[in-house]
Amino acid sequence: MKPQNSTSPKWVDFHCHLDLYPDHERLIVECDQAEVATLAVTTTPKAWRRNCELAASARHVRVALGLHPQLVAERESELPLLERLLEETRYVGEVGLDAGPRFYRSFDAQERVFKRVLEACAEQGGKILTVHSVRSVGKVLSHIERLLPSDRGTVVLHWFTGSANEAKRAVELGCYFSINSQMLASTKHCNLVASLPSDRLLTETDGPFVQREGRSTRPAIDIPKTVQALAMLREQSPEQAAEQIVSNLRVLVSS
Ligand code: MN
Repeated sequence: MKPQNSTSPKWVDFHCHLDLYPDHERLIVECDQAEVATLAVTTTPKAWRRNCELAASARHVRVALGLHPQLVAERESELPLLERLLEETRYVGEVGLDAGPRFYRSFDAQERVFKRVLEACAEQGGKILTVHSVRSVGKVLSHIERLLPSDRGTVVLHWFTGSANEAKRAVELGCYFSINSQMLASTKHCNLVASLPSDRLLTETDGPFVQREGRSTRPAIDIPKTVQALAMLREQSPEQAAEQIVSNLRVLVSS
């Protein structure tokens, strides 16, 4: 998210559904005030225009064009719209695969959509994707390996819950990882996050889906807490962790 004017952010929320909160516009103001570089992910291509309008003058909010795997069963027909809009954006998401029990029935359709999105991104080049991989990390990585070589685009695995071997494979494919507070609430995932290379880490809220203290997480409030937890886990100071994550974002967007 290269700043439209050159103010460097203090924090990073690389995956937040700003348009699913009742106070979307207020959130944009909060992200700018708190200097949280925020990627507003969308779940259907039809949401793209409105998100762009609202974020048009924001310093720190950028919009990603998405088609969520959990919506593919009803929204596969919007894939051509995504392909048409793709030229307008550097950021793509939320896209990916979900093989959880509620969505497994649409898995074939999800694969068709995800493969086409990867191909289209590879054709245009230079895109940054935020990717969902629930119970499907192996397949997600195989599609990326085949269809989106690292010199044609970069993938950020959002809410990664794969194994240590899958994480290693993702690192080799050039992927980044965006870490949310819910991931750090589980010992198993903490161990995995602790083992990831520090130059591949970003933070996210995945709000409003991720809740904390009985409310939806918000970038300006919850990202600093996630950075602090991440710093403890990785035995860094919170300042070092915050700097590292902003610097990782800078490298990612200048690639
Ligand atoms: Mn999400």
